[in-house]
Amino acid sequence: MRVLKFGGTSVGSAERMKEVASLITDEHRKVVVLSAMSGTTNSLVDITSYLYKKNHDGATEVISQLEKKYEAEVDALYASEEFKTKGFELIKTHFEYIKSFTKDVFTVFEEKAILAQGELLSTAMFHFYLQEQGVKSVLLPALDFMRIDKNSEPDKEYIRENLANVIADNEGADIYITQGFICRNAFGEIDNLQRGGSDYSASLIGAAIKADEIQIWTDIDGMHNNDPRFVEKTHSISDLSFDEAAELAYFGAKILHPTSVLPAKLENIPVRLLNTMEPKAQGTLISSNHEKKRIAAVAAKDGITAIKIKSGRMLLAYGFLRKVFEIFESYKTPIDMISTSEVGVSVTIDDDTHLNDIVDDLRNFGTVDIDTDQVIVCVVGDLVPANVGYANQVLGALKDIPVRMISYGGSNYNISLLINASDKKKALNALSNNLFNE
Ligand code: ADP
Ligand code: ASP
Ligand code: MG
Repeated sequence: MRVLKFGGTSVGSAERMKEVASLITDEHRKVVVLSAMSGTTNSLVDITSYLYKKNHDGATEVISQLEKKYEAEVDALYASEEFKTKGFELIKTHFEYIKSFTKDVFTVFEEKAILAQGELLSTAMFHFYLQEQGVKSVLLPALDFMRIDKNSEPDKEYIRENLANVIADNEGADIYITQGFICRNAFGEIDNLQRGGSDYSASLIGAAIKADEIQIWTDIDGMHNNDPRFVEKTHSISDLSFDEAAELAYFGAKILHPTSVLPAKLENIPVRLLNTMEPKAQGTLISSNHEKKRIAAVAAKDGITAIKIKSGRMLLAYGFLRKVFEIFESYKTPIDMISTSEVGVSVTIDDDTHLNDIVDDLRNFGTVDIDTDQVIVCVVGDLVPANVGYANQVLGALKDIPVRMISYGGSNYNISLLINASDKKKALNALSNNLFNE
């Protein structure tokens, strides 16, 4: 069995949904994971933010605009009156539900329920379209099998068992359709896998059913060697290792959700990144085999805060780093980068929710300096020490750019550098020019 995930742009209009239908009717059995139509989750986020502020007029305006968009798409998607009516009824039900929250208390529970509507709508609309076309498919509600535990981590055992059950209940089908992004939490409430999480749904499903292949269909022909939103000349990479892809996803390559590679890597399931707009393009194959002796790509992660702790007592003080790390652990704040010297240590975080408390606690150990608005630029490739010269090329490219931290040797496939956000575009372009001659 295969897993095919189609992102927001790929199902972003009636026309695009029809294209997707034509891509899934081959001989392979498959689970098709869909995102919400593009722009929908952003609109749902806007609605929830109005509702938190008790601005019911603001919420109602966005809801009406969104509903109109869906009415137009439904009208364009179905050919027959029968299915148009079914489609209109479907969106009416979902929008009545969204509107019901404009009258009541609004908490994170209601927020999550509203955010789930995008994927529920797109999958049901697509399922009806296949029915109208006479293509047999089964709609599997993700809320029946996708679950996170109390640490917000996927409950893999639960997912495996319950997905196997719902598939067994519909034995013999060739196309199963389900929602990306949405899940239940440890209390059984509606929750989600964070923005962009449909990729994660696809790889968790792929791992749970031990799929032959996971395909992530999007609006670009695979992982590019630099961020196409900031660099003009970029090109698609044909092969990546799981580790390289995970590193790029984590450090800002938006084409993949940050944690979506790991489930596939653990089960050794190849992941193919493909372009719905250009289905014949080769795209990128992520697997355990990959090209050696090359720098593969550059990515950048925004919104980073650097924290420097200087202490006279660090000299020969074993246990100093443990105490520093324990503070971050106690606030459940992950550290992305670290660099040390005899008198101090610098670390970076991307979640600054507890920054003030962390800084307060760190002051027990030394002087603390903060730099906000930083960016981690991550260069990924075959960076084993024997491949001399790559580090020099990377630093050479950044010779005119102030570099705040450097991390090299943490793995065999990445060099990370911390720079000011204002230098990001310049740095990404300079790296492309130096590393890929583009
Ligand atoms: P989807 O809605 O299909 O999940 P996303 O918008 O989440 O699609 O991801 C695809 C986008 O990721 C591309 O349109 C591109 O702008 C962006 N992107 C950022 N970095 C990269 C990269 N290194 N390679 C390819 N795409 C990238
Ligand atoms: N619809 C969700 C989002 O926009 C999940 C996804 O598209 O991956 O974040
Ligand atoms: Mg995405």
